[in-house]
Amino acid sequence: MSHQPFETWIFEHEELSQDEREQMQAHLDSCQECRQLKAAWQNANVRLQVKPMVMPKHGFTQRWEAGLERRQVELQTQQSQQVRRFLLYLGLSNAVAIITFVALSIQKGAFLSWIIDAFQELVEIPSILSGLVNTATSLLQAMPDYLSFAAWITVTCGLCMLTVIWVYSLWRTTFRGVTIR
Ligand SMILES: [Zn+2]
Repeated sequence: MSHQPFETWIFEHEELSQDEREQMQAHLDSCQECRQLKAAWQNANVRLQVKPMVMPKHGFTQRWEAGLERRQVELQTQQSQQVRRFLLYLGLSNAVAIITFVALSIQKGAFLSWIIDAFQELVEIPSILSGLVNTATSLLQAMPDYLSFAAWITVTCGLCMLTVIWVYSLWRTTFRGVTIR
């Protein structure tokens, strides 16, 4: 028995004519081989059509995006923790600087009033000693400038470091964001 043109028709993508369909049906009724071939081909086609729809499991995209979001949130949390820690250290060092500054000012004030008291009791020998007191006073008065300058330096350096850290974090977030995708 010849299986042509029926074998070809089985694999044909285009629709058969009414006449061809009738011939095909007649052949299939009498030919088990072609029936099996047609069934196998249809089965294979169904699998080919179904497979791409089955492969990405439901919610895959959402899960992947959620994972990406989670990783980014983790990264941001880590970075904000680093920034918080840095700010804490900066705040602590500034607090220490300010406390030192205040403590020194208070001590200096006490020291100054003690000198003044001491010299007020010795009014008889004022001229040279008051000159010394004046020198000491102006020296002591000049000191807060140095101290506030030190405090100013600390704050400025802190701000500069913060800016650098901020720029670095921005750059890193952008860079990492690209590599994750
Ligand atoms: Zn046949």
